[in-house]
Amino acid sequence: MSKTQTDSDLVIVGCGIAGLSAAVSALQAGLSVTLLERAPEPDFGGNTRWTEAYCRMKNESEISDDFEEHFAANAGWNVDPNVLAAVSEPYENWPGYVKAHPFPDPEVIATFADRVPSTVAWLNTFGLRFEPQPIYLLTQNTTRIAAKGGGLALIERLMQEAKSLGATVLFEVTAIDLLRDDTDRIAGILAVEKDGGRRRIWARSVVLASGGYEGNQEMLTHYLGARARHIRPVARGGYYNKGEGIRMALAAGAAPAGEYGSYHAEPVDPRSRMAEAVVFIWPYGMLVNKHCQRFIDEASATVDAIYDNVTRSIADQPDGMSWVIFDSKVEEIPRWKTSIRSDQPAIEAPTLEALAHSLGLPPDALARTVANFNAACPPEDGEFTPFGIDGRATTGLTPPKSNWCRPIDKAPFRAYPIMSANCFTFGGLKVNNDAQVLDTDGRVIPGLYAAGETVGIYHQVYTGSTSVLRGAVFGRLAGQHAAMTMQARV
Ligand SMILES: Cc1cc2nc3c(=O)[nH]c(=O)nc-3n(C[C@H](O)[C@H](O)[C@H](O)COP(=O)(O)OP(=O)(O)OC[C@H]3O[C@@H](n4cnc5c(N)ncnc54)[C@H](O)[C@@H]3O)c2cc1C
Repeated sequence: MSKTQTDSDLVIVGCGIAGLSAAVSALQAGLSVTLLERAPEPDFGGNTRWTEAYCRMKNESEISDDFEEHFAANAGWNVDPNVLAAVSEPYENWPGYVKAHPFPDPEVIATFADRVPSTVAWLNTFGLRFEPQPIYLLTQNTTRIAAKGGGLALIERLMQEAKSLGATVLFEVTAIDLLRDDTDRIAGILAVEKDGGRRRIWARSVVLASGGYEGNQEMLTHYLGARARHIRPVARGGYYNKGEGIRMALAAGAAPAGEYGSYHAEPVDPRSRMAEAVVFIWPYGMLVNKHCQRFIDEASATVDAIYDNVTRSIADQPDGMSWVIFDSKVEEIPRWKTSIRSDQPAIEAPTLEALAHSLGLPPDALARTVANFNAACPPEDGEFTPFGIDGRATTGLTPPKSNWCRPIDKAPFRAYPIMSANCFTFGGLKVNNDAQVLDTDGRVIPGLYAAGETVGIYHQVYTGSTSVLRGAVFGRLAGQHAAMTMQARV
């Protein structure tokens, strides 16, 4: 196909941080860009619109010390030692099945980590700043800064830049498939317009930045199983991410990567209509299911390290529901209210029995569970250090609780309902260091890039506060590489 037959050099699906980073980078390098966005203009930006955009960094020029280490520690279960041996060789020597392997490979993660500071510096050139900000996590084992103005500031500023550099932005247009030219190279996107009509948008390359599949119940059930019926997106933006980008690439032979059967979970008050109505007070109380049974250690480590796993386990409880039970000793914890974002009030009662009645839980079972827990707590010694791992663990209780254990015995008693909300899904596409999508044999699919949630890098426990950075870094890599390739071909 000749350039004159294309609508743009680059067509990008999605206007979150990933798509916009790709767009602005490509535009700066002189490419023409068409951006497709399924949402109406006031709602563009998917998940990025709703995030506070915490970043696993010490400051704007340094990533946190554990950035790469956390990915390596969560590379998937039972990673084949043959694969690990192969990746110690130079990349060009890796067998195809290793290049296409679904784990967060050291090449991709090293590039990701390496490019964070320069990508943040690039965002700074648009006046966007990152700085320490208060967070709802009362205990943390890493460092975080956040975008000033959150994800909304990122997408609004980048959209403004993209438009001023001449991008064509098509709102309420949904990408449904890849187009190919007569040599079978990827050559654009088949989309559905607002009125339902089909439109072919031809381009020399395509960037898929359309998020994960958190907004697609069929894909969620397919990959996560029956527990999918218990979860919902943590904010409205997730409903726009229905997985078309991932599906069309897989159908074109792309290699899957990331843990398809999992998602980044956040503990949310199901009564609230707010975005991210999180409740993070449970390390200082207990979590019970509808039978008033505890089901997990609520405090095995700092809350930022464990909430992903703890919250996913809520989806496996009957009806996908749990309740945090705590007492008025919580008042001794400075800033405890910052750990609760829900706009709904705590359910409060003078006795555990009355609390159980208000919650619709069996009072006898709650009394038994609390009594067993209280009996297993260490003796009170007057010392309580809520912001440090204190080793105040239960004795002889299953499941144990490892820290911050004190009897739940001081009225009034309080509770919040908590469900497992889906921040984003882990399954995506395998890319290389230039954000080019690889096929199932580890070869580059010419003309196809992916960025953001559409790229699969997470397994087991999410490396917290890296998803916005993933969007910015891989988006920029895609835009830059597409520009470099096209300039080389001219
Ligand atoms: C409430 C909340 C808090 C979060 N907190 C943090 C945090 O502090 N730190 C962090 O790193 N991450 C956080 N995350 C996760 C992070 O915000 C997202 O994973 C990241 O911003 C995703 O960026 P993206 O560009 O890949 O996808 P998105 O921002 O979701 O953008 C995808 C875009 O693609 C569009 N789209 C989808 N399908 C199509 C289609 N077929 N055709 C056309 N357009 C399509 C969508 O409408 C959307 O605009 C949070 C997420 C939420 C919701």
